[in-house]
Amino acid sequence: MTMQTAWPENVIARYLTVGGATVTIWDADQWTPAAATCGGCSASNEDGGVNSSDPRRWAQSHAETCRAIPKPA
Ligand SMILES: [Zn+2]
Repeated sequence: MTMQTAWPENVIARYLTVGGATVTIWDADQWTPAAATCGGCSASNEDGGVNSSDPRRWAQSHAETCRAIPKPA
């Protein structure tokens, strides 16, 4: 299996937002449930709101609406 870029081991999916940022879904571990966070605006499904109980659905819908531009590295 080849990967485009190295992802941290606990990242299970990434979504590109309309603003060019990335929403990352982190896999659950023994301490925390799976969670999605936006690299553009720092929003997270853990903030609550629509689809907040489903990180994948939250990531998909957030990526479609977030226009925050990622901070340069
Ligand atoms: Zn965002």
